[in-house]
Amino acid sequence: MNTPLFDFIHDMIDTNDALTVGQFMSLCLGHPQHGYYMTQEAFGSKGDFTTAPEISQTFGEMVAIWVVTAWEKMGKPDMIQLVELGPGRGTLMKDIWRGLSAKPELRDILNVHLVEFSPRLRDIQKEALQGVPVTWHDNIETVPYLPTLIVANEFFDALPIEQAMHHQGQWYQRVVTTAEEDLMFSLGKPLQGIATHKDVEDGTVYEYAPIATEIMQDLCRRLYDTTGAMLIIDYGDDVALDERFGDTLQALYQHKPVSVFEQIGTSDITAHVAFRSLSLLAQENLCVTLPVQTQGEFLKSLGIELRLKALLEKADAEQAAALQSGVQRLVAPDQMGDLFKVLQVFCYDA
Ligand code: SAH
Repeated sequence: MNTPLFDFIHDMIDTNDALTVGQFMSLCLGHPQHGYYMTQEAFGSKGDFTTAPEISQTFGEMVAIWVVTAWEKMGKPDMIQLVELGPGRGTLMKDIWRGLSAKPELRDILNVHLVEFSPRLRDIQKEALQGVPVTWHDNIETVPYLPTLIVANEFFDALPIEQAMHHQGQWYQRVVTTAEEDLMFSLGKPLQGIATHKDVEDGTVYEYAPIATEIMQDLCRRLYDTTGAMLIIDYGDDVALDERFGDTLQALYQHKPVSVFEQIGTSDITAHVAFRSLSLLAQENLCVTLPVQTQGEFLKSLGIELRLKALLEKADAEQAAALQSGVQRLVAPDQMGDLFKVLQVFCYDA
């Protein structure tokens, strides 16, 4: 069955022209009426995917420790704000805020800014974050130019990517076009100078991320000017886009992979984050980065196992089982522990 967004996109291509992969992804996720984040109950067991903060409160508690540590490393400035990019249901910020109750001298001076483009999710966040001093923004531009700690969990993988495909010695932009009643990928205009590797087979896909690149650059320039730190956690690899071939675009519908042309607007579409590229962008903008870690390493380094132990002491048998399996899911290498990576960026005078 065609979704309303499928019909919209099909008509749009027939009337105008093929869409680039990025334009297509952007409509799937962000179309004002039918886009995935505008309409769907995305996260949690009822949704299409479950994110780390929805799995265990300990995730946000560890991020709270990261926030405190970064603030202390900055010399405890008394002007400081916390920004979250793509806060989903507001669960991560809720857990961070609760975690920060252990540090009232920070929590009392902290303003929270949420960058969220979905009015529907903003309403859910408002409900979850009652009592927290929150301001919402469509993008980072309107966030005050002050010392800032930024957190972003599963934000970058939702930013539209573009794809190129190699065909007979030449790279072409990959586009989405119509095939009678259906949609299909096709070759668009030839592209120059994006991938230097020539010896690849026909059909090889190369991804580039103009939007993520621009956002990362803006964020790092801002951190350089204002001082601050940033924590990026996402599904991806410690590679640069230039070193990576292959199509990482994927759609999830009710926890199962589907074709990106099925369930358009009702499935979540993401692409793997190339962490090395983000890290290089930070360095080019004079920020300091730590080596990319796995989520498991990062959470353990902040003491998630000790936190679990403390929580278990007060838990009944049922709670204990849930706590244990939650933490296990976050850190185990065969679960989220290795698939998810962490990049920390710092910019302040030590
Ligand atoms: N961080 C949350 C949710 C991740 S889903 C969690 O871990 O549970 C991605 C989030 O980013 C959603 O809140 C979505 O609405 C938001 N988002 C995606 N693209 C965006 C964009 N271009 N601008 C602002 N918010 C965006």
